[in-house]
Amino acid sequence: MEPISLSQYERVVFFTGAGMSAESGVPTYRGRGGIWAQYRWEEYACQDAFDADPDKVLAFHQQRRGRVLACQPHAGHSHLAALQGAHPGLSIVTQNTDGMHQRASARDVVELHGSLWRLRCARHGRIEDLAAAEYARRACAECGATLRPDITWFADSVNAAVFARAQRLIEQAQLFVAVGTSGIVYPAAGLVPLAARGSARMIEINPDQTELSGLFAEHVREPAGTAVPRLFKY
Ligand code: NAD
Repeated sequence: MEPISLSQYERVVFFTGAGMSAESGVPTYRGRGGIWAQYRWEEYACQDAFDADPDKVLAFHQQRRGRVLACQPHAGHSHLAALQGAHPGLSIVTQNTDGMHQRASARDVVELHGSLWRLRCARHGRIEDLAAAEYARRACAECGATLRPDITWFADSVNAAVFARAQRLIEQAQLFVAVGTSGIVYPAAGLVPLAARGSARMIEINPDQTELSGLFAEHVREPAGTAVPRLFKY
């Protein structure tokens, strides 16, 4: 595929998944070597587990944050952030919770599954930005409940306002680029058919075929770290 000049598109959405951070070394959740092969999510990644033992769940997530912090954004993250700086209509919608896009200086990233760098109250939805602080127990200023990681756990619903924003951006997109997502985690994966129903140019960047490949007109079977810088210019 020839390099694409983004200036010909007013609205562009890059939709990223775990594969976007794979070359940075961020561990995956599933599959061989994935953390859910080592740990039972029922004990570490759901509201019931947190209610039963918040310290254990916070310690687990603190460990995950440590592993992410030891990784660095790659050339694909940096290039995407630079393109966004040049193009006011470029949005990044991510399923990742690792904050890698932001560490590469991307702004206003739509985080469908929340962020490892924030805590929130399960009852009031109040969010506290942690920045690099430890996941020590913190109480909601309104109700005193212990704040939980602001990420979407098993059996959680996605944040409706964030999801609605992603839908609006995707409905308006003239170019939709999915990078490193298997398309098996719903409702996020449902955003790909939404893009395909409109008139957006549809490009998939993924070394492997996915469940959703049939919805894309163009396929780039390369890793994100080389494909994104090579293919997109302002
Ligand atoms: P997934 O793990 O289901 O699929 C990853 C996809 O990335 C696969 O299709 C794989 O072929 C592709 N891939 C692998 N290496 C790649 C590379 N170098 N370049 C491009 N593509 C590559 O991921 P998902 O679809 O995002 O769904 C998993 C869920 O778990 C999502 O919610 C995801 O955000 C979350 N998750 C997040 C992180 C993170 O924050 N970094 C890590 C693991 C999982």
